[in-house]
Amino acid sequence: MKLGMTAVVLGGSAAGLCAAGALAPYFSQVLVLERDELPADAEHRRGVPQSKHPHFLLNSGRRAIGELFPGFEDELVAGGGLHLMPSMDAAYLDGAGWSARKSSAMTMIYSSRILIERVLRDKVRGLANVTIREGVRVTGLSTRDGTVTGVDLTTSIGDEHLDADFVVDAMGRGSPVSSWLVAAGWPALESQTLDAKVTYTSRWYELPAQRPPSWWWQHLVIMPTRDKGEHPAEHEFLVNFFPIEGNRVIACMGSWGTPCRVPTTRSSNRPAGYGRRCSRPRWIGARLPRRSI
Ligand SMILES: Cc1cc2nc3c(=O)[nH]c(=O)nc-3n(C[C@H](O)[C@H](O)[C@H](O)COP(=O)(O)OP(=O)(O)OC[C@H]3O[C@@H](n4cnc5c(N)ncnc54)[C@H](O)[C@@H]3O)c2cc1C
Repeated sequence: MKLGMTAVVLGGSAAGLCAAGALAPYFSQVLVLERDELPADAEHRRGVPQSKHPHFLLNSGRRAIGELFPGFEDELVAGGGLHLMPSMDAAYLDGAGWSARKSSAMTMIYSSRILIERVLRDKVRGLANVTIREGVRVTGLSTRDGTVTGVDLTTSIGDEHLDADFVVDAMGRGSPVSSWLVAAGWPALESQTLDAKVTYTSRWYELPAQRPPSWWWQHLVIMPTRDKGEHPAEHEFLVNFFPIEGNRVIACMGSWGTPCRVPTTRSSNRPAGYGRRCSRPRWIGARLPRRSI
């Protein structure tokens, strides 16, 4: 069943690519408009600065993406993603000590955010009626009688307008679409903001080709500091060695509930300040990966 001629998706990141996959069966053509020039491979880009941090692809999301794009998981693994069982393959240290390992039905594919996006992009590029237009900036919406009828954009050669039967906003958290709709006469949406005060500080490391025998783990999670006396009650730290494709890990320090940054000293690659408060298992202390990338 076709719902219309043209659907336009604003933003070509994870949500925009999934939206394009969902719309493709229902529209004659789907256009994805993306401000960045998109890399052919898994690379960071300006529009998605969070891609340097670890991204957990939770099971329900992974299943939903697999329904939209059959073969998604296989291609993620073919690209170097690691299909692991966190309860067996991850070492967790919390205030009570190391967690026992156990088998579980819950598995996860570990990879970088940029690899997830590259696989999604390849999948969408394989859809005959979907076109991704890169390097175009969406600048506004056109409306008529309470309906969105099209999209304004700027390209390297000038301004353009596209008529659309259906428009999806996937321009991320900074999207101006709400303000465009208010300017066009729609009532402002009521919104509530909960600032979770989450801070991530991440650095990517190459692991040695030969892992020391004590590194049975694939994923290492250290949380939280034992001595919480001087911290606010809700304050937690987490140190995460998150495995990704290419024999690399993202070393990430996170904090919740308190606006704190976790600086690293450039010269030594060692976390400074708050980072030192985390529990540090002795057996790993001397063997942190050496080469940061
Ligand atoms: C530190 C951190 C950790 C996270 N960890 C996880 C995690 O573990 N698991 C998880 O599932 N999620 C995680 N997230 C959330 C996840 O990153 C986002 O939910 C997801 O990337 C949002 O995708 P998106 O496609 O909606 O938007 P974005 O990825 O923000 O993309 C928006 C796109 O719109 C484009 N765009 C913007 N403006 C325009 C314009 N005017 N015209 C054309 N294009 C435009 C941008 O270039 C970009 O490509 C994390 C986020 C952060 C910040």
